[in-house]
Amino acid sequence: MCIFAPVKTEIGQDIQTAASFLRNGALVGIPTETVYGLAANALNPDAVLQIFQVKGRPTFNPLIVHVHDAAQFSLYAEELPDVIKLLAQHFCPGPLTFVLPKKSVIPDLVTGGGNTVALRVPGHPLTLQLLKSLDFPLAAPSANPFGYISPVTALHVQEQLDGKVAYILDGGPSMIGVESTVVMMRGESLVVLRVGGVSIESLREVYPNVVVEINQSSNPKSPGQLKSHYAPRIPLKLGTISELLNRYSHQKIAVLSFRETFNHSAIIAQEVLSREGDDAEAARNLFAALRRLDQTNADIIIAEKLPEKGLGMAINDRLERAAADH
Ligand code: AMP
Ligand code: MG
Repeated sequence: MCIFAPVKTEIGQDIQTAASFLRNGALVGIPTETVYGLAANALNPDAVLQIFQVKGRPTFNPLIVHVHDAAQFSLYAEELPDVIKLLAQHFCPGPLTFVLPKKSVIPDLVTGGGNTVALRVPGHPLTLQLLKSLDFPLAAPSANPFGYISPVTALHVQEQLDGKVAYILDGGPSMIGVESTVVMMRGESLVVLRVGGVSIESLREVYPNVVVEINQSSNPKSPGQLKSHYAPRIPLKLGTISELLNRYSHQKIAVLSFRETFNHSAIIAQEVLSREGDDAEAARNLFAALRRLDQTNADIIIAEKLPEKGLGMAINDRLERAAADH
């Protein structure tokens, strides 16, 4: 059970309120540029345990630890390879998470029992201020029930975790809209464990030796890599919209498209991610659009992938997992 479980969770912009709840071991919804996080004192196992309970998240899934400056990485990680320092200079604060050998101050519960810790500097002014006012880092996965669509507004968090978190800090809509890219060093290679808000192309501009190793097993090295994830309640099918419209024409269809709108008598709802065909705009719209479609009485959601470049890779990854059988 939560240490603090009010009936209705207040949404506000008061950093002091958020900080005092966190100091007392309670959970707070926090804004980040990727998605909203469900935060707890990363150094307090009792506080961290509540994250898993509230989300229904298996404890073998490690959490990302958030700090206000990359200079703090060395407080929680044993070694900082030069490549990591270089990437941190380019991408911190920002949607890039570094998996590093952990120091013992990080509880095993945070790392799923493993000897590595995932560290990130979130690029959101309110959360950076909050982190600066605390003398501990924040463990925070996305603030949604495990497996469901990630939240990108304070209201999304309230819709699903009302009464289960002490406070929700409202920083407006998340400006990136997909989770962080997760990386680790292996020898000279930078291994990408999860595609996300920093594109593979931008990583390669800074360090060319990038290997993408997206794990899809049911017991993965990286929890965002579970095959079914980010999933709406309504079944989602991925393919070519016109073909899917024909195949499911006897059902009520909700359409999630990249640029175009479609006309068909079976369509009852429709979301276009970016009329301009801009991958960053599409990422920003993805989870909110998926949520709106999931709140309709459609029988099926049909969606198409984006070109496999820029943030299109992260969007396609989320859509594939949303379409995977639960
Ligand atoms: P979430 O915060 O729920 O979006 O997911 C956390 C993400 O952090 C997962 O997808 C993992 O890729 C990553 N992660 C956290 N800790 C580790 C770790 N020690 N090793 C590998 N990946 C990690
Ligand atoms: Mg998540």
